[in-house]
Amino acid sequence: MNWKRTLGVDNLSEEYRFAWDESTGFTSAKKIPDHWVPTTCGYCSVGCGIEIGVKDGHAIASRPFAAHPVNRGKLCPKGLSEHYTLESENRAQYPLLRHRGKLKRVSWDEALSVMAVRFRTTQKAYGPEALGVLSTGQLVTEEFYTLGKLVQLGFGTNNYDGNTTLCMASAVSGYKISFGSDGPPGAYEDMEIADVVLLIGANLADNHPILCQHLEANHHKTLIVADPRVSKTAMMADIHLPLKPRSDLALLNGIAHILIRYNLIDREYVEKHTVGFAELERFLDAYTPERVAELTGLRQETIFKTALLYGRAKAGFIGWTMGVNHSTIGAATVNAICNLALLTGHIGRAGASPFSITGQCNAMGTREAGFASSLPGYRKFDNAQDRADLAAIWGVDESRIPVKRGLAYPDIVEATVAKKIRALWIIATNPLVSYPNQDVLRHGLSNLDFLVVQDGYHPTPTTELADLVLPAAIWGEKEGTYTNSERRVSKVNQAVAPRGEARSDFDIFLALAEKLRCREELYPGWTTVEDAFNEWRRVSQGRLCDYSGISYALLAEHGAVQWPLTEGATPKGTSRLYADGQFQTPDGRAKLVCTDWAPFPEQPTAPYPFVLNTGRTVEHWHTRTKTREVPILERLSPRAWLEMNPRDAKKLGLRSHDSVDVVSRRGRVREVELRLTEITAPGQVFMPFHFAETNVNEVTQDAFDPISREPNYKQCAVRVERSGVNA
Ligand code: SF4
Repeated sequence: MNWKRTLGVDNLSEEYRFAWDESTGFTSAKKIPDHWVPTTCGYCSVGCGIEIGVKDGHAIASRPFAAHPVNRGKLCPKGLSEHYTLESENRAQYPLLRHRGKLKRVSWDEALSVMAVRFRTTQKAYGPEALGVLSTGQLVTEEFYTLGKLVQLGFGTNNYDGNTTLCMASAVSGYKISFGSDGPPGAYEDMEIADVVLLIGANLADNHPILCQHLEANHHKTLIVADPRVSKTAMMADIHLPLKPRSDLALLNGIAHILIRYNLIDREYVEKHTVGFAELERFLDAYTPERVAELTGLRQETIFKTALLYGRAKAGFIGWTMGVNHSTIGAATVNAICNLALLTGHIGRAGASPFSITGQCNAMGTREAGFASSLPGYRKFDNAQDRADLAAIWGVDESRIPVKRGLAYPDIVEATVAKKIRALWIIATNPLVSYPNQDVLRHGLSNLDFLVVQDGYHPTPTTELADLVLPAAIWGEKEGTYTNSERRVSKVNQAVAPRGEARSDFDIFLALAEKLRCREELYPGWTTVEDAFNEWRRVSQGRLCDYSGISYALLAEHGAVQWPLTEGATPKGTSRLYADGQFQTPDGRAKLVCTDWAPFPEQPTAPYPFVLNTGRTVEHWHTRTKTREVPILERLSPRAWLEMNPRDAKKLGLRSHDSVDVVSRRGRVREVELRLTEITAPGQVFMPFHFAETNVNEVTQDAFDPISREPNYKQCAVRVERSGVNA
């Protein structure tokens, strides 16, 4: 009993004291920080500037970093509450090693020694490629660079990929085929300048909310949104194209057909800067407006109107995200987008760009500096000169640089099923929620001899299966840089100490290198992340993604800046790639690519009559490991739901808020709340993918793009049943 309270001596005045804060006005005194630390948001690839309010060594507030060029004083709900992610209950704090079936706390020294020995033993027994690594888009660029060297040169395996393959690998592959290199050509500013903005499979209002202010700042644009759902972004559009699921490639080819037929193309640009026009023109003959109307379900007039608007625009912008990428023809669809930009010359100018909007806060960093689908600096595995350059910079024998990429994410999973990969290191990702067709993944992981999961959170469905859990520092607890979707490099700063014994991923990689006795060879004299950044600058020098002019001092002076920035250059305004019409191909010309539409792999049938679409909601982040611990976000969106058109519900005798099961050939998701809405068309249903408890990936299929290896998350055949009837 609190006697002071009982006697009325303590009236909790300290607890409830109010005070004045410059950003919020009168507020609880407990919520006024001692100081603010500028940094960059750790959720999505928009890359907003954010300040963390710190009081007595704890993060107690988040606010927009007003001077940051991306968000101009605004944050979305996730950014505004991001400080809650640091002190949540489920933070991983100590290394844990499985002993007699249970995870037990051990020292860092023991954890890393066991890891080094188990990985080495596995490689000795089954070959170096028996070790696989699955990374993330959540680390800082310096950590990706350090990790890539450790995996390739330290462990000697190239079976290394990231969860970025589940997200934007199709954009990467598409860019490489069309332009000769990865690298988004445009900038956010283009959305403010373009007179036509076409968004395909991109629900910015939920997934990249702060980008909507760039759209809203453009008062003269025509906004066209192609999406099977009437998403929040579609509701902002001047023209919504409610096309049939996965018919976007047919639509793009149909637009290209009309552009050529009505001479709305920039012939001079096509002649000077591209190859493949004659072949493309012939190929597109088959994509008549009549056929495209049938394939897409759109009216011919709407397709004509879209083509004419884009073709006649002074500056046309095409943005896309997962609606395009999450497909077995994702890379091909990206090529079709690039075709439109090249045919019309809508590229390399203010407002004119094909533009992939990426997913995670630093997916771009891993694309540039990682070792997964390219060598660092967008170098190519199969280019002898690229390999020789890298080997010379690092002072290692060329034979240690692989001549081809290792297994991509889904192929690493398949290799665990086939017992070719026997040890796996998973870093900052949660595949037990995010991977399609969970059954296959569970089978693969159960085959492993040793599974290490390095994460800022525990327990997660993935750490619970680990033989070793390494606790990592997260956003707010470490330093480095993120690069956002428009190639803007932004500083990430430490505001508070890591929880418990957690260490930054950078420290973990260096300590592990020490155990492998390769630290001095790989990281000579390195002690800080800035050492990694400075080497990365040298590695990127002269490449498309040239960071050589960017230093921590320059970022402190100028704020976030875009690459390329060559050594000694000063950042000036907004930059766009390919302004000179020179592409990263041997002859400098971009490629016009013939890409045929194909129906999605699993068509609805009588037992599985609905097409299931999956996606996100603004309140949550990916597998909800972070956001379920943020009270306001969790209260706003506490559970998954299934969207269904009221006409379909009527036929099934279902009503709003009924509890339903979603069933596919692969599995069943139980007890999902049904929501009836015209947002989703008849014959389709939609479900968010954030919720481990009702995981939609129990029913999604493991079909992958043959080029990018990205999963076809967006369409699979399901039926919907009232819960408890047939379960
Ligand atoms: S839009 Fe993205 S980067 Fe900006 S605050 Fe929201 S989650 Fe963070």
